Amino acid sequence: PAPRSARLLDDLNPSQRRAVEHAGSPLLVVAGAGSGKTRVLTRRIAHLLAERGVHPGEVMAITFTNKAAAEMKERVADLVGPRARSMWVSTFHSMCVRLMRREAKTLGMSSNFSIYDSDDTRRLITLVARDLDLDPKRYPARTLAIHISNLKNELVDAATAAERAGNDLERRVAEVYASYQRRLTESNSLDFDDLIMRTVELLQDHPDVAEHYHRRFRHVLVDEYQDTNHAQYTLVRELVGTGADGVPPGELCVVGDADQSIYAFRGATIRNIVEFERDYPQATTILLEQNYRSTQTILGAANAVISRNSGRRDKRLWSDLGDGEKIVGYVADNEHDEAQFVANEIDRLVDSGEANNGEIAVFYRTNNQSRVFEEIFIRLGLPYRVVGGVRFYERREVRDALAYLRALANPDDTVSLRRILNVPKRGIGDRAEACVATYAERERINFATALRHAVEGRVPLLNPRSRNAIAGFVELMDELGQAVERGDDVADVLEAVLERTAYRAELEASEDPQDHTRVENLNELVTVAREFTDLGTAVPVPDEDEGLPAEGSLAAFLERVSLVADADSVPDAESDGVVTLMTLHTAKGLEYPVVFCTGWEDGVFPHLRALGDPAELAEERRLAYVGITRAQRRLYLSRSLVRSAWGQPAANPASRFLDEIPADLVEWRRVEPRRSAPSAPTTWGRGSSSRPAPANTQWKDTPALKLDVGDRVNHDKYGLGRVVAVDGSGPRATATIDFGGSGTVRLMLIGGVPLVKL
Ligand code: ATP
Ligand code: MG
Repeated sequence: PAPRSARLLDDLNPSQRRAVEHAGSPLLVVAGAGSGKTRVLTRRIAHLLAERGVHPGEVMAITFTNKAAAEMKERVADLVGPRARSMWVSTFHSMCVRLMRREAKTLGMSSNFSIYDSDDTRRLITLVARDLDLDPKRYPARTLAIHISNLKNELVDAATAAERAGNDLERRVAEVYASYQRRLTESNSLDFDDLIMRTVELLQDHPDVAEHYHRRFRHVLVDEYQDTNHAQYTLVRELVGTGADGVPPGELCVVGDADQSIYAFRGATIRNIVEFERDYPQATTILLEQNYRSTQTILGAANAVISRNSGRRDKRLWSDLGDGEKIVGYVADNEHDEAQFVANEIDRLVDSGEANNGEIAVFYRTNNQSRVFEEIFIRLGLPYRVVGGVRFYERREVRDALAYLRALANPDDTVSLRRILNVPKRGIGDRAEACVATYAERERINFATALRHAVEGRVPLLNPRSRNAIAGFVELMDELGQAVERGDDVADVLEAVLERTAYRAELEASEDPQDHTRVENLNELVTVAREFTDLGTAVPVPDEDEGLPAEGSLAAFLERVSLVADADSVPDAESDGVVTLMTLHTAKGLEYPVVFCTGWEDGVFPHLRALGDPAELAEERRLAYVGITRAQRRLYLSRSLVRSAWGQPAANPASRFLDEIPADLVEWRRVEPRRSAPSAPTTWGRGSSSRPAPANTQWKDTPALKLDVGDRVNHDKYGLGRVVAVDGSGPRATATIDFGGSGTVRLMLIGGVPLVKL
């Protein structure tokens, strides 16, 4: 058999091999979609372990989803054996939780802290804003939350935010931020952004701690680097450290594609990739240009769309998989027709043996677009799974049950405690809750402590009935807490919660059919917990590892459910055999033999919000690039003439991105019915009716095309032609153009006409 090193390298191209073997200076691999970036990262780890004598404990790799992390671990284990499992491969957030649990004491926290998601965050901010007497109409919690999150992504703390505040809103935000942060600390809780920010703080303020990790993690690798925000960027820097000469003591390898940066709204900045070389002067950059995923036709479309973005490094992706099938275009009458088309095509592909269900994915811009597909797929009995949408862990009853568990794991957790204080109803009304909260605020103690003071009669204005009810609640929680301390299985603790609180019994007794669904969801949660425990005891604890909550423990369970993300539930093609439905954002990093990209309409995709904003439009275009490049063999692009949005049917013009795809790559199965028609071949996705202006400004902004008699032109729909006459001037100018076989057409020469002068 070939020596190991050959096996690890022989199915890589020379540039990929160079990236795998590179040693020493920081390494940046920038390359277009499907060029093997993720493969390089995986191989590099395997190579480190197999050939360079690196211990798995010295490797930290960061992926964008938990699922991708699990896959990467598996792949490396396949290549070099099971010891690979003790590497740290995780998302930024999981990695930070792990670090923070180990180092909580250094930051004056307790290691059983809760993790607040966006819903918890909003609840806490609502409480804070109420205490500060802010008008919720003027300062909605959601808005405040976004501002605070943005500040944290930029590593700006509350004090700095207050100093920098230049207007009323910013001052309010800073005020809420400070108070919110204090409440988080009192609750022994961290929100998602804190996980990153506090870890950075830990490493920056505690050189001895940082030093420990620098020595430990000799190799830090990051996938999807284009989607890191400033805080994550800094975290990476702090993790690898900088030596006296500016050279990091460990090796850093990041891979990414600036054209696939689609998380600007979460503070991701392409800057991190564009300026890597400046930040790490000794860096080596490797470009990959061969795409191994898609046909040349699919790549041609992707390249054409993304090349319209300005300020990017042009890279020509190529593939030797051949042209393959043409892209199929379809113009539907409405969204139901579009879904029907997709379903019929899937049927046809599966019947003909061209693909099986698991190889097919349907993408859309926003989650709400999945509903129509689901209706039709259910009717036709087509097996499918929707990734994301209203998630299991967002359902009210599931959140209630988890709030009990969280309050048991971390008794200081204010948001969880207040959520369940009177759920199910136990006679602790809003007024009583407010009394306790006010008292806590005044005494500068947390809510949990204030509850105990209430039982002792120290909270003023609390009537005896409420006081008794609170005593009952505190007693109940203490009792349940003993089960946790005894180390009972998570599922048993959960059962005890549902039992002792009568939460489930109450739902079971209800007449409302929705409540029966809730009971099912709770039972499902018990099953999840049961599986978790079984798995936890079955898996041997890897290595000497530290910082992880004990496998199968309540803390580990809560950690897992807190960090679960949409993308983690993407089904595996081989094992599940169902069609996968998801948003374009969720599709990042994945690949499917057959892809349906739906809803290509201006106002849907690109999103309405982006139409008047060049930066947002550029981001939507990157999203189009991501979507197109997921397809391996077959790509479908569809749009709908009419779509119901917010209950109102609206006519949508074709997505401008469709215009950007060379017409000869697309075969239109159905086009827009003609209204007024010269006898031109409709190779393009619409009839001859002129394109509705997406936004009025658009027409004014693009300069009119200047043409003279005799000029040669190319029109997206009619093809090559020669100008035979020009009439009028300025915005009224028209040209009569002879398109040969397509006839002679008179066109207005305003911006937005898909016509170029050759
Ligand atoms: P994305 O930008 O979408 O994240 P990527 O650059 O990470 O893509 P990969 O997912 O690593 O690309 O690779 C795309 C596909 O090409 C995968 O199926 C991978 O196994 C395959 N591939 C990559 N390199 C090679 C190679 N040298 N030979 C054969 N197949 C390869
Ligand atoms: Mg990848």
